[in-house]
This record gives sequence, C-alpha cells and structure tokens, in this order.
Amino acid sequence: MKIERVIIREGATESKELLFREPEEALAELSRRALFDSPHLFFIEAKSRKFVDRAVKVLRKEPESSLSPIFSNLEPTKELLRLIDGIEASITEELLEKAEKIWEVLTKLTPNPYAITLPENWRMNFLRFLLSRQIDEVEPLLKKDSVIGFFWPEAAIILRKDEAGKEWEDLELMKRQKIFTSDTKNKTSLCPFCGYYNLILREICPSCGSVKIRLEEFIHHYSCGYIGPASEFQVGDKLICPKCHEELKHIGVDYDKPLEKFTCEECKSIFTEPDLSVLCANCSKIFPPEDIKEEVINAYLFTPFGKLVATEGKFPLNVFEELSVQLGIIGFNPFLYILDKFLKLVKRYPERRFCVLGLKLIVKEEAITTAPTKVRLFLKDLVAVIKENVRSSDIISSSEKRYILILLPETLPEGAKVVAQRIAKKVEELLNLNGLTNLIEFKESYLCADGEGEIPTAEEFIKRLFEELEK
Ligand SMILES: [Zn+2]
Ligand SMILES: [Zn+2]
Ligand SMILES: [Zn+2]
Repeated sequence: MKIERVIIREGATESKELLFREPEEALAELSRRALFDSPHLFFIEAKSRKFVDRAVKVLRKEPESSLSPIFSNLEPTKELLRLIDGIEASITEELLEKAEKIWEVLTKLTPNPYAITLPENWRMNFLRFLLSRQIDEVEPLLKKDSVIGFFWPEAAIILRKDEAGKEWEDLELMKRQKIFTSDTKNKTSLCPFCGYYNLILREICPSCGSVKIRLEEFIHHYSCGYIGPASEFQVGDKLICPKCHEELKHIGVDYDKPLEKFTCEECKSIFTEPDLSVLCANCSKIFPPEDIKEEVINAYLFTPFGKLVATEGKFPLNVFEELSVQLGIIGFNPFLYILDKFLKLVKRYPERRFCVLGLKLIVKEEAITTAPTKVRLFLKDLVAVIKENVRSSDIISSSEKRYILILLPETLPEGAKVVAQRIAKKVEELLNLNGLTNLIEFKESYLCADGEGEIPTAEEFIKRLFEELEK
C-alpha cells in the first residue's frame, strides 16, 4: 500500500510538497489535491507539546481528516493521547504498518453518507475512528472546564464540540440507539437550570437567606441570668454584661459558655443550624441542595450492533424509540391491559366514558437519509405538541412502530375531537415548516367507549382504531 506522508513541522521555514508549517496549511493542500480519500498519514514534528496538542485537535476536528492516521515525535497532553496513533522520533516501519492497518479498515467502508456539515457525519466519523483503532470503550476523564466536570476526549473533539462535556448528549443518544452500552464510572452534580456543574455550596441564615452569618459562643451571666452572644459582652478587652452592666471576671464563677450558635448580621436572628443554599457559578441562579441534578457518568462500550452501524454507515433513526423516551410511553401490552380495565369499568359505570386517540406517523426511509436533522427537529416539536395537549392522567403508548396511542380518561367524543384536531393542525404546520410533507405521513383519529351495547375487548377496540387510521 502506498501511503502519502504529510509532515507538519514546527518552525519549518516554508511549506513545500507535503511538508507544512501549520496543520491548517496541510488540510488546505490535501483538500486541493483531493488526497483525503487515498492512504496518507500525518506526522507532526514538534518542538513543543503545545504544537502537538494544537495540531492533533485541528486534524481530528476536521471531518475530512478525523480518521487519518496521525503520529508525532512528541507526546501530547494526557487527554489527547487517545486521539493520536503513535509516537516515534521519525516515521518508522512500525508507524507505516500501523497506518496501513488503519487504512485497511477505512478503505472497506462506504463513504460517510451524511453531508460534512451534519452532526451525523461527525458521529459516524467518531464511530469509524473507534472501529479503525479497535477501541471498544470510551472512558470519561475529569476536566475542570467541561460543562459537566467530565469529558470523553475522542468524542468531544471528533464531534466538534465547542465546549467539552457537550458530547455527553450525543453519547447518550447513541446509547439509546444501542450503538453503545454503558458502565457507570462516576457521578456529577448539575445545576437544574443550565446543566453546568460549577456549583457553590453556601451556609445561609434560615430567616433572611443572608450569607453574613457567624458561629458564636454564647455567654451565660449567672447573677442576672442573661444569655447572649459573646460579642455583646465584649467591651475593649473586658466582658461586661449588656443587661446588668456588671463585669464578668471568672469563667465558672461569674459566667459560663453553655453553647455555640449562629447569628445573622443582617437580620440578627440566632439559630443552631444554618440552611444550605446552592449558587450556580454559570447562570447565577440560587436553589436548595435537593434540587441539584445528580447524574451518572458512564464509560461507553461499543456494541456489535454499533460496529455494524459504523461499517454500514447508516444510523438507525428509531423514530418510535426516540418518541418513547421523550414522551414517557408505556409498552403496548401494559396499554392493552389498562384499556381492558377501562372497558370493563365503562360497562359497569356508563358515565365513566373515555376515548383513545390514535396518531399514525410514518417516516419514510428517504427522510432519514436526506434530512435526519429536520426529522429530529420535527420529532422534538411533535413531542412538545403532544405534551401540550395531554393531561398527566392520560396514558400514552405506541404500537407496530407507526401508531401513537393516547388513552384519555373521563373524556367525551367532543373532547377527543378537539384534542385530535388541535394536534393535527399543529403537525401539519410543522411538516410544512420543515418541508417534510412528502417524507412523513401523518393521520389522526379517535375512538370512544360509551358503555352502550356490546363492549369490545381491548384488542378489538384497538383494531377498529387502526382500521380508521388506515382508511
Ligand atoms: Zn438573617
Ligand atoms: Zn448580667
Ligand atoms: Zn446554572
């Protein structure tokens, strides 16, 4: 295998052939010569670690070179070690073999099908990076300037995140897509408002919330019985009782110090336990400690299915799976079970009427390959529309990967009609807005139980609703 050697040399006096002074120059030239798809390697000849760090970041961040073999003569900082393929003083046989191995994997892959500007493209690159380097586990590292206090360097850089820690969302999404499983490694505490981890824990006055509180010794004057904070007794270097103005001389004889309490300088209240309050250093919001969001920090393990996704180059867009997570959907069988209970109930108490709203949603394969981001945005909006229109007592499920079912308890047909129409109108607007009318099929219908005549089984009831939706 012929492998082009691209050298990036710190302090090189000029750029010529495949020798460059800066990684950006190398990228521009490779792009001009259309060399990205043919076997090549980058060798960073640095004098300083800073230069290696920067070059590695620039090369890995660029979608066109994020899978290229990269070597260096110097070790980068620890957090970038996993992004470099080897460290040697010069391009040795060993490095060439490593590069060849990587290219053997890369050349077998279908070209990344997603446009270079799409997050899907970067996510696919990330998976292919793991695949071609035989990395099975992506581990979190502590990082003080990450949004969440941890980050996954390979993901943060290849996924082009402007802030470390933001790759977390992508990793969780790919976990839901079964590309990864996870293994708990740590925990973090996040602001419930902005999601940052930079939280400051403060002791405050329980009455007025001020931070101007002091732990003080209290003095008990025996002869008059007065008890107060030591500061009230202090006059110069003497202790004078503020109540009876007698001087206190001997501890144990005139007075004792029975307790310690907090005093608030602001509102003067006295208390034994201060409250705890959290201040977010990012958004300045203040909240009690129980509102802190505790989150698990995982290592992500590349599944066999994930490797298949990387090989085939296509993300599964499991529409219903994403909807399920976001809507808090219950399984279809439990739904039938509950529906059955409602049907039995309406038979005994005809006034307990209810309806089931059915939404048919078919996302064409073409939508997923040509406009995955639009589809995701649409789904996100759809979730919001559904949430706006259901009550907390409504029960949501889905079936056969094309229907969303919503059981509306204590609802008359007129009520169901209003909800159905409102959702349909909104969805139509959203489809138009996103230019998805030809790519996503949507239909709504509803069926109500009134307790009159023969009461169907849950299966029969749902079958009728499905028939309506397929008309
Ligand atoms: Zn106070
Ligand atoms: Zn006194
Ligand atoms: Zn915050």
